[in-house]
Amino acid sequence: MTLVHGTEIFAAARKGHYAVGAFNTNNLEWTRAILSAAQEKNVPVLIQTSMGAAKYMGGYELCQQLIAAEMKSMAITVPVIIHLDHGNYEAAKEAIAAGYNSVMFDGHDLPFEENLAKTKEIVELAHAKGISVEAEVGSIGGEEDGIIGEGELADVNEAKQLAATGIDFLAAGIGNIHGQYPANWKGLHFDRLQELADAISIPLVLHGGSGIPQDQVEKAISMGVAKLNINTECQLAFAKATREYILANKDQEGKGYDPRKLLAPGTQAIKDTVEEIIGWMGTRPIKLVPEEL
Ligand SMILES: [Zn+2]
Repeated sequence: MTLVHGTEIFAAARKGHYAVGAFNTNNLEWTRAILSAAQEKNVPVLIQTSMGAAKYMGGYELCQQLIAAEMKSMAITVPVIIHLDHGNYEAAKEAIAAGYNSVMFDGHDLPFEENLAKTKEIVELAHAKGISVEAEVGSIGGEEDGIIGEGELADVNEAKQLAATGIDFLAAGIGNIHGQYPANWKGLHFDRLQELADAISIPLVLHGGSGIPQDQVEKAISMGVAKLNINTECQLAFAKATREYILANKDQEGKGYDPRKLLAPGTQAIKDTVEEIIGWMGTRPIKLVPEEL
């Protein structure tokens, strides 16, 4: 069992022009599917909980312990980073106390000076325990009141100031969106990504990785994106496989209603999706030999 923080893994990824997947978990099945896909591919993986998913599952301590216990029972040997996705100030502190290896403090909706000051505080708290920190500048688009917004492009000067706080990786709005992408989406803003990549050397994070055309994601990875967040794609795969199982009346055949049978196709679909994405992201196996880190 190898729980690690994210600093070296993602720095190596940016240097090597590949990305490491950051997959959201929601429950036991999700956790097992993500871990077994990473183990099969023999690559490091980041498994993350949003504040909402952590609340749903029973809190940060439970999430941390569930993932760690699963790793032990599944004999996982690849490096795993347990990360908080889009945490507010309180959540970041709670996840640090609960033993997460990495936290995102998302202060993008605060006035910039406050985002900067709070990011600094979280960095101090986290780094004292060897925990890596992600911050956000600009904003990731998404649906609000039925309208899908493109988000706010990251300001290069603000990105530089946030990077100077000592954060380990930076999420930047470059036209990416959480959830499903609208048909009229204009694509990623590569000019801004280039400016950001030229200005800061820490790994960049692409949120809303589900649904961006693969060639655009690959281009972004080649330019400095080292952490790719995937959530919606796994949710859609799980829902589709579960729906097919029920529409085929398999829940009514024999003991097909047994939750272990009912949830199996969806769980397999998550694992297949994670493996497929890891495959084209080019994630490289990392041996946890200190000199390689
Ligand atoms: Zn996100």
